[in-house]
Parts: sequence; C-alpha cells; structure tokens
Amino acid sequence: MVRRGALQSRPPQLECACCWGIDTKSAMGWGMLSTMADNGASLEADVAIVGSGPAGLALAMGLEQAGLRSLVLEGGRDPYASRWNLSMNALKAADYGVGKPYLDLHVQRALGGGINVWGGWCAPLRDANLTVDQSKAYAGWPLTRDELRPHYIRAHGLLEIGGAPEAVLEPPTELTSSPALAVYGFGLSPVRGLPKHWLQRLEASTSIDVRTGATVLDINASGGTIESLGGIDELGRPFTARARRYVLAGGSCLNALLLEKNAARLPVDQKRAALIGQHLADHPYIYGRSRLMLRPEVEDEIERSSRWFGGFLSICPASATLKQMPCRDFHVLLTRVDEKLWTETEQAAAANHAQVFGRKPQLYSTIIGMEAAAGASSHLRLDRSDSNLAGAVDIHIPEKQAEHGGLAVEWLKRHAAAAWFDKAKPDDIVAVGHLMGTTRMETDGNPGVVDRDCRVIGTSNLFVAGSSVFPTTGFANPTFTITALALRLAQHLGETRHAP
Ligand SMILES: Cc1cc2nc3c(=O)[nH]c(=O)nc-3n(C[C@H](O)[C@H](O)[C@H](O)COP(=O)(O)OP(=O)(O)OC[C@H]3O[C@@H](n4cnc5c(N)ncnc54)[C@H](O)[C@@H]3O)c2cc1C
Repeated sequence: MVRRGALQSRPPQLECACCWGIDTKSAMGWGMLSTMADNGASLEADVAIVGSGPAGLALAMGLEQAGLRSLVLEGGRDPYASRWNLSMNALKAADYGVGKPYLDLHVQRALGGGINVWGGWCAPLRDANLTVDQSKAYAGWPLTRDELRPHYIRAHGLLEIGGAPEAVLEPPTELTSSPALAVYGFGLSPVRGLPKHWLQRLEASTSIDVRTGATVLDINASGGTIESLGGIDELGRPFTARARRYVLAGGSCLNALLLEKNAARLPVDQKRAALIGQHLADHPYIYGRSRLMLRPEVEDEIERSSRWFGGFLSICPASATLKQMPCRDFHVLLTRVDEKLWTETEQAAAANHAQVFGRKPQLYSTIIGMEAAAGASSHLRLDRSDSNLAGAVDIHIPEKQAEHGGLAVEWLKRHAAAAWFDKAKPDDIVAVGHLMGTTRMETDGNPGVVDRDCRVIGTSNLFVAGSSVFPTTGFANPTFTITALALRLAQHLGETRHAP
C-alpha cells in the first residue's frame, strides 16, 4: 500500500495484526483515513524499514517473497519537494547537467530516493575488491563473490538489466593481446524515476505498507533489543512503529545520522560508535580524460567483445596487474568517437596509424572511474543542537586520487594505446554522488559498525541496508550491490524469522 499523502495512521479499531494490509484499504478507503489526524499513531509490521530508496524498496519486495510484512517509512514524497537538513563543504562534483547542488541531487528525500535521478549503470563488485589485500589499507569485504552471486542474479531481475545475468556477472575477462587488461561488464537498468510497475506492485501488495512524509528520528531500545521507532509526519505529528526487526535504509548520510543520534541508547561499544559517520566516500571520476587509438590487436579483441552496453565498454586492470599497482581499483569506459568529431591532429594520427599498421583505427574517448582511496578524512557529523536529523557532510577527494588517476593513464598508455590525445589533466577529478561507507561492515582486519549480516553490532534486531555498509567502494556504481545486499538481507530475515 503506497500512500502518497502525508503519513496517515491506522484508526485504532483496526490495530489488529491479522487484518494489517489486507483489505482495510478497500474497506475504509484511504481518502477517509487522510482526514484523520490522530496524534500518537501506532504502526506495526514484521520488519520496519526506514527509507524507500532502492535499498528499502528492494528489501520490502524481498521480504514479501519471504512471507514477511514490512512497513516502509519514507521522510519525503516527491523528488526535490523537500530536502534533508544537511550542510557541506565545497566539493568538485558532477551535477549531470541538472544544475542542482550536490546534496539536493545526491541525497534525495522522496519516495524512491535516488531511483528518481540515477543513471541505471550497474556492475557487480569484482573479486579483487572483495578479497582482503593486506598491502592496501581498509581493503576487502567479509563476503565472497560466490555468496553474493545468487543475490546479484535476483537484483539483475528486479532492476531489469536485461540479457543473461552472466553478461554482467562474469568476472573481468583478461585480453590475450594484452594480459594486463581485462574487459568488464556494465549493464544498464531501465528502472528510473520510480517506475509505474514498481508502484503498481507496491500498491497491489498486501504485505508492504509504504508511508510517505514519515520521518524517523528515534530508535527506542531496551538493552540490545530495539522496541520501536519514533518519528514525526509532515505536520509534525508523532508516530510510533513497532516490529520484530528494524532496518535503516536511509542512504549513506541519513543512516549514519540516525544511528549517531541514537547511539547512546544502544549498547554499541565506544570504538564502534566512534566509527559511525566515518569512512565517507564517493567515487572519483575523470570525465573526458583523453582520447586514444588502440593497438590493432587490442582493438580487434575489444571490438569483438560482447560486453558493449549502451555504446560503452569498460576495461580494468587484470587482477594480477592491479595487485602490483600502488593504487586502488579503477576502470576506463571507452566510447567510439564519430569520425566527424575527430580533430585535425587525430585525423593526422589516424593516417599515420594506417601507414604503420595497414588499417584505419577507431578513436575512443575515455571516462576513468576509480575506487575511492581509503581513509577516514571524509566524514559526516550530526548536529546535536538540532532535535531533527541535521548534520554536516565533510567530504573530500583524497589527495592520493590524482596520483591514482595518473597511474591509470600510464597503465592504459603502456598496455593498450597506439596514439594518445590529452583532453583533461589527471587532477580534473569530480565526485559522482555515490555516497558510501559511513556504517561500514566489519572485516577481519578492521572494526566496523555492522557485521556480515548487516546487523548493528551490539544489537539483536537492528540492521542496515545500503552502501553505508560498504567496507570498500570498488569502482562499480553501487546500486546493483545495494540491491543484491538488500535481497540478501531479506532472505536472512526470512530464514531467521523465528530467532529470539
Ligand atoms: C544523478 C545520479 C546518478 C546516479 N547514477 C547511478 C548509476 O548509474 N548507477 C548506480 O549504481 N548508482 C547511481 N547513483 C547512485 C544511486 O542513486 C544510489 O546509490 C542509491 O539511490 C542509494 O540507494 P539507497 O536506497 O541506499 O538510498 P537513497 O536512494 O538515498 O534512499 C534513501 C531514502 O531514505 C529516506 N530516508 C532517509 N532517512 C530517513 C528517515 N530518518 N526517515 C524516513 N526516511 C528517511 C530518504 O528520504 C530517501 O528517500 C546515482 C545517483 C545520482 C544522484
């Protein structure tokens, strides 16, 4: 049931778990409910989810399949109609031509969250990102690709990426013509702007109850057990939500702020409490870094690849090569440049290439996407003087990043390029709005806020969904992994539904 009006409460005579979400909508008519303004509204479900972005909605749909009832509490309603109370430092960031400040664009407060604005680019993390590499700080995940694979397959279906899941799930394929290079798959999801059929599915569901304009502020706990969530609707009226399990799916900024606001009520130890809001990261990208012509044997292999999606192909360093490089992971998106757009210098180089190699080359433009260099210098801090969720985002492109961009360029020149044309400098780096890492997952070598099941360590029934749990960012855009992790969490909550 999706109610797009202000948060409404169920009338007291319907406070009965058995009729929850079944035919009360048709029996009462939500129009009637919308005229009721009860303070102290009380809501119930098996699982209460804070946030209706891809993490929250995928989780709700996964829980439906697992036979559990969920209540999704969403603070906003329409994209850009309201915003979270966040401030931030100056940051060079992509606005995708939308012309909105970073926080307005990248921290949505709306039904569907970032799904309203995202680009749909999907790639899984690769083994090299998941494996702990002791030579690199804060590297690796406590999960393997095999564990994630079935959830990626379901996420592939939910996000309607198209084609066989293997096309994007296969590990990078190393090139025989240049073994330092591997071809990787990015798929394109058409699920944008909260698609109609997702809305219809939510509306038709008898086990998913979505409330918009419902901002969660309080996590009420007794010992390690969460007993309820408290919040306010758009008119400032309080509500309470009770469930057996609770999941924070409010995006990387809001998950951390809500947890930090309530940390003192939870038995989270000091070391872990201090980590909340730390390790904030965004993917650094260099757009239009350069154009290049590939060596003929590399061009042949790349052009034959079946991993061209939407006119792009992604190449990354082979795992063994990456291990030897003093930088984090990266990839280069190649796009063919139409001959009409070649410069005179490029035309002259193509003529030279034809003489040397006996054939005309393709010209490719590049976009370099990087794993964020690790470190705790970027962070998020709750503003305790404000009783609502307010905070300051302090995010920087790590100093090392330009150096890493330079290494990526050197790698490409050395292993693939026949001719190279610079368009931008390696320090023309922008953040692209993929916020990650503020409630990181504990790994072997590094403490975290949540465990491998995404449970907040110290609590028995509080979980986190979304990229705030990512212990490392990898270079892959995060939403495919966010969706896979949400579906994995739904399965876990289904399998452990009878746990004390
Ligand atoms: C322009 C742009 C392009 C992008 N392109 C891509 C792409 O191509 N590929 C990709 O993988 N990713 C992309 N992303 C990133 C993607 O949008 C995010 O990774 C994704 O939306 C995060 O999902 P989420 O559900 O964790 O959080 P969000 O989408 O941020 O949703 C969280 C929701 O929770 C609500 N909420 C938060 N706190 C509370 C609270 N206390 N009470 C009630 N509600 C709350 C918020 O209002 C919000 O609606 C893009 C992002 C932008 C901005």
